[in-house]
Amino acid sequence: MAAQTRTIPAPEPNPETKPYWDAAAKGRLLLKKCTSCGQVHFYPRAICPLCFSDKTEWQEASGRGSIYSFSVMRRASVPYAIAYVTLAEGPTMMTNIVDCDLDGIRIGQAVKVVFKPSDCGPPVPMFAPA
Ligand SMILES: [Zn+2]
Repeated sequence: MAAQTRTIPAPEPNPETKPYWDAAAKGRLLLKKCTSCGQVHFYPRAICPLCFSDKTEWQEASGRGSIYSFSVMRRASVPYAIAYVTLAEGPTMMTNIVDCDLDGIRIGQAVKVVFKPSDCGPPVPMFAPA
């Protein structure tokens, strides 16, 4: 594992995503659920991307998921793993896999959310082996 730590750029919350980032600051991962079609989506949006209803509400995620795909960025000054994680609730999110040996990451691996500090912004949800 690299001794150096990578600087994580600060996300830029907007009115639509402010509750998401406020929850992240408290170590909670939020998703949006649509009460019209009943599906959960990510990234959180006011309008459901699946049925275009505006009847969406916040829901706390379990923080558990599995790795759908990943790629290790070895040429970065501090190598890191970017991945798609399929959450237990259904949606897939683009994220990073952290706190593990980058060579040990496997597709299908169970992971859980961890929050990593960003550069002068809210903490960012990432995933570590469960
Ligand atoms: Zn919907």
